[in-house]
Amino acid sequence: MLQAVNQKGELVPIWKMNRDEIKQKRKQQFFCPACKEPLMIKAGLKNTPHFAHYSKSNCALSGEGSYHENGKKDIYLWLSDQGYQVQLEHYFPDIKQRADVFLEMKKKRIAIEYQCAAITIQEICRRTEGYRSIGVIPIWILGANKLQRKGTQSLRIPSNDQTFLHQFYPSLPLSIFYYCSNTKRFIIYQDLIFLSKTNTFGAIHISSLSSLLWQDLFQPRYRNKALFRKYWQQHKQKWRNKPSSPYQRQENEWRQWLYLHQLNVQTLPSFIYLPITTQFQLKTPPWIWQSRLYIDLILKKEYFTTDQAIHLLRDHYHSSDCFPLVLPTNDPVGEYLRILVRIGILKDVSETKYQVNRTTV
Ligand SMILES: [Zn+2]
Repeated sequence: MLQAVNQKGELVPIWKMNRDEIKQKRKQQFFCPACKEPLMIKAGLKNTPHFAHYSKSNCALSGEGSYHENGKKDIYLWLSDQGYQVQLEHYFPDIKQRADVFLEMKKKRIAIEYQCAAITIQEICRRTEGYRSIGVIPIWILGANKLQRKGTQSLRIPSNDQTFLHQFYPSLPLSIFYYCSNTKRFIIYQDLIFLSKTNTFGAIHISSLSSLLWQDLFQPRYRNKALFRKYWQQHKQKWRNKPSSPYQRQENEWRQWLYLHQLNVQTLPSFIYLPITTQFQLKTPPWIWQSRLYIDLILKKEYFTTDQAIHLLRDHYHSSDCFPLVLPTNDPVGEYLRILVRIGILKDVSETKYQVNRTTV
C-alpha cells in the first residue's frame, strides 16, 4: 500500500517521498491501516515507494505487488491533475472496505478498484454491493497483466474476468477496462460480443494515460460492423470444418447429440451460430443453445412462446449475480428469436408467441 499509519496514528504517504525522506522514515515503525500489523518499507530504484506486509500476513491488503501500487498511484495522479477531488486508498468504515482511489464529484461518488491479482466472483460481488449500499459507484479497472489479445479487435476474456464487464446504462455498450502501469496505457474495450465462451470481438481503444481524460473512459465506441462480419464468418467456417478435440467434453457430447438427431456440424442450417450481443449471459457457446432451440422447438412445434424457449434453455444461463456491473439487459434467447423473425424463419403471432415458417425450415 502507498500509505500507512505511524506510531502517532498519522497517515504517512510514503509514495510522495524522496530517497532522503524515506531514509529518515526507516527509523520509524509503521502499521497497516486495515489489520494494524507492522509493515516494512519497500523503496527500490524502479518502483513507487510503498509499504508491505511481512510474508506470513493474512491481511486483504497484503500481496499487492508493485505493478498494482504503480497503477493505483498513476490513476490517482491522473485524476488529481484533471482537477478532481480524489483520495488514495480511501477507507469506508461503514462497509469496512478500502478503495484504491476514491473520486468525489458534484453528484457522484466513485470507487475505483485497480485489480491485478486473482479474485473470486463472490469477492467482486461483495465489494460491489458494499459500495452500492453506501451510494458509491464502483468501477473496476483490470491490470493489463490480465489482458489476452487475440487479434487487432479481439480479446480472450476468461470466465472469471467476465464479472468485470460494465454497462452503465442500457443505451451504452458493454465495456471492460484495462490499465498497464508499465506502459502507462489504458485499454478500453467496448461493444464486445462473445463468439464462444471466451473469445470476443469488439472495439479496442488504446490510449496513453497522458492523452486521456476521465470522461473518455465512458465515451461509447462501437465495433466495426464490416470487420466483425468477416471475423464471424471466418470463425464459423473454421468451426464447421475443424474436428473437435477429444478434450472438449461439452463439444463432443453436443456433436453426439446432433448425430442422434441425424445431423452434424456441416448439415446444420446457417441460422445456427448467429452472433447475439447478450451471449455473455449464457454458459454455453452460441451453436450449442441455438441448435437446441432448433431441434427441440423449431423442428417439433408449429407454435411456441419466448417463455418456452427460455425454459428449455434454463440451465444454459449464468446466474445474474455473475454480472454485478451490468444493468438488467435484454435476454439472449429473445434476441435470437427476433433475428429469426427478421430472416423469415419464424413469424410473429404476438409479442411473445412465434409460428415456425415451414416454407423456410
Ligand atoms: Zn494489513
